[in-house]
Amino acid sequence: MPSYDRALWALRTWLDSWSGIGRIAVGVVMLAGCAAEGTTRILSYYGDWTGVRPGQRPAPHTGLDFDASRGDPAIAARDGTVVRVFVDGLCGNGIVVQHLVGGTFWRTSYCHLDETNVQPGQQVKRGDVLGKVGTTGRSAGVPHLHFELRQPGSESFDRIDPLPFIVGCFDPAKTVTYSTLEASSAKPRPVLTYPVWCAGSIK
Ligand SMILES: [Zn+2]
Repeated sequence: MPSYDRALWALRTWLDSWSGIGRIAVGVVMLAGCAAEGTTRILSYYGDWTGVRPGQRPAPHTGLDFDASRGDPAIAARDGTVVRVFVDGLCGNGIVVQHLVGGTFWRTSYCHLDETNVQPGQQVKRGDVLGKVGTTGRSAGVPHLHFELRQPGSESFDRIDPLPFIVGCFDPAKTVTYSTLEASSAKPRPVLTYPVWCAGSIK
């Protein structure tokens, strides 16, 4: 079985079991799957106290930092609707996309962009270019994409670790597979792909 299919199989198992063991298996197999298809590098994980520069963060990291070069595309991790395009001191130029999953709204955020290429209300497909990676906001001058996942169920859309929801690099040929995975989930949850292009992937 190709490693990518193994990753999907493992994710399905996890969706079915909703167990910690399944979660670890998904993490391990997903890494293998991504390596086979192309890679992307994560500079800082959810919950990390250190980031792209030395020293402690004032609070644990609220998302994942993906290595990318300035001007690289930031791409939608799933189909959705752009609900915010904004600028602030932390995120810099940011975009929030809302995803309807099994009747509930989840959100993904993309930060530190040099440029935004979408408007609020715009529908986007997984893999669509949202903007260009940069180093605006609190990003320590190191170009990277800060990516967050917000789950429904609270007014503030609590931020959770996106990594267990990521099945690998974006591949247009897998579109049906992504929806099948979501449909097979006992609890509604988004299936996400990396928000940057992976080395060697289709662009
Ligand atoms: Zn970050």
